[in-house]
Amino acid sequence: MAEASESQHRTRDRIDTGPRFTEADAIRLNRMFRGSDTQEMLRAVIGDGLLGEVAVVSSMGAESAVLLHLIASIDPALPVLFIETGKHFPETLAYRDTLVERLGLTDLRNITPDAAVLAAKDESGLRWSYDPDGCCELRKVLPLANALEQFDASFTGRKAFQSSTRANLPRFEIDTSDKQGRLKVNPLIDWQAEDITAYFTEHALPPHPLVAAGFPSIGCSPCTHKVAPGEDPRSGRWKGWDKTECGIHSPVQPGPDGELPPGYEPVF
Ligand code: SF4
Repeated sequence: MAEASESQHRTRDRIDTGPRFTEADAIRLNRMFRGSDTQEMLRAVIGDGLLGEVAVVSSMGAESAVLLHLIASIDPALPVLFIETGKHFPETLAYRDTLVERLGLTDLRNITPDAAVLAAKDESGLRWSYDPDGCCELRKVLPLANALEQFDASFTGRKAFQSSTRANLPRFEIDTSDKQGRLKVNPLIDWQAEDITAYFTEHALPPHPLVAAGFPSIGCSPCTHKVAPGEDPRSGRWKGWDKTECGIHSPVQPGPDGELPPGYEPVF
């Protein structure tokens, strides 16, 4: 694992090609922060530069305000990556701008799909309707993979209670989307729905406008549906498809033409 003194001197034009972190580092970090609450852990890893260059990946969804508020209270200049797929609800884009302003975030980065790739592979803009995996690949997975190349670690807002696919995630894990050995940090993984609600109330955070309309999990508009009370909060995502994740938390697979970002090695 990178020592604090070393990581503080990491630069974005790094030339070493070895993995930033290993599975042993992730295990050590999980042990190191066992018993620490979320704020203590974030203060240590952000404030002390323990993880090198870090960004937070945010969907600006129903619960995103909590992690962004926690991070803004430590370092409002931390890069915030928002994947602007071109398919978001207008309410989500407005909410993004509201959160940035309210929380004082100073480094929002809108990550967009490559225009030429979209023109070639999703000219109609309807790929989501017949090939959602391919659409997510073009609009989310590859743009984010490219954006993350310059970072050593990323924060996600995933919680264990959100779905069975997230139930057993650790706080620190190796990002397996490529071989660079970035860390993926899930600061809210052990938070319950009540904790999220209480944090919103305690800090008077603005809710996403679509939550009150019956959307507990919010992604792109064509692929997000209302959820009945008591259902898995993410069951409204890609309704009717055997798909539960957009792919940004999975190994990167080749796109329809076998293309991958520079330096990416798919894990088959
Ligand atoms: S969530 Fe839907 S619209 Fe958004 S990138 Fe994935 S398939 Fe496309």
